[in-house]
Amino acid sequence: MKSPNLDPQSWVLVALGVISMACVPLRTVGEVGKAQEVIPGVWFHEGDLGRKGHCNNGWVIFKDYILVIDGNFPGGALEVIPKIKATSANPIRFAFDTHHHGDHAYGNQTWFEQGATIVAHQGVMDELRKYEPALFGGGPGRWEDEATKREDVARSKLRAPSLLFPKELAFDDGKRRVELHWFGVAHTHGDGFAWLPKERILFTGDACVNGPYNYMGDGNSAQWIQTLEAARALNPKIICPGHGLMGGIEILDNQLAYFKALRSAVSDLAVSGKTAVQAKESVDGIKAKLQQQEPIAKYIGGMFASQVEKVWVDLGGKPFESATVAPATRPKSDAEVLAKLSP
Ligand SMILES: [Zn+2]
Repeated sequence: MKSPNLDPQSWVLVALGVISMACVPLRTVGEVGKAQEVIPGVWFHEGDLGRKGHCNNGWVIFKDYILVIDGNFPGGALEVIPKIKATSANPIRFAFDTHHHGDHAYGNQTWFEQGATIVAHQGVMDELRKYEPALFGGGPGRWEDEATKREDVARSKLRAPSLLFPKELAFDDGKRRVELHWFGVAHTHGDGFAWLPKERILFTGDACVNGPYNYMGDGNSAQWIQTLEAARALNPKIICPGHGLMGGIEILDNQLAYFKALRSAVSDLAVSGKTAVQAKESVDGIKAKLQQQEPIAKYIGGMFASQVEKVWVDLGGKPFESATVAPATRPKSDAEVLAKLSP
């Protein structure tokens, strides 16, 4: 199928349409903005990405408190808090940032004001030091940039996590257990997964998404595959991704298959001695080839050219800017991509 020339927003709408039409597997169902009870006491909420740039959230109700998965933007947090409160009278005691991106961590202050401690892998703090220097006494970073575009960000303030884990951290009340894991570099250098071992439910953040939402600029495409394979080894039954609908293990398998196919196509270019200019010129050809593979076609969207370039660079190639043709548009962060997708 030849791809129509759509802007990123239309790509998302098309992708969402394709996903909703393809909702055959029983569990791959849901509705943006509607809380879904995955199992009793465990909830999933698909954020309004297309219009508001919101990420997905999860929450787990323990005996005495609630653990929220992902900080979202401040507006996303404010939208989901009443929905959480409608499911339990327990206090929201912890909010877990799956990674440092604005749509997953800029709502930290909002959760803090609810009484929550912000939890994350140590790598989230390292990424914040890199991309949010103002938080550590330096100049403006991504937050300040985003605050010029989003009112909810401008009205709030950036708050770093204060409970950090090196590789694992468990929440366990004797009945319910949630383990936070870091399996390696993926979408960023600090991607945490939330894992319910008894129920085999995995919250992945943006290390695994269900649709054309893979921003690759802050991670590493080779290590990303290894990290997803480590997550796959848990043998999860239900996947709650960072963006897109929840579903079964097929979401993780499709995400892995997409990266493998992308890496393989780009590495063919490298092996055959192509230049950066030629690699850039191959983008449409690779896209057409991958679009023929039904399970992974839905991962192809407005960021495809920058994904090819990232893999090319990960394989040792020069950025496409060094090519003599016009440089690709290179988003700096999820937040920037999402801002572009917002009307
Ligand atoms: Zn992200």
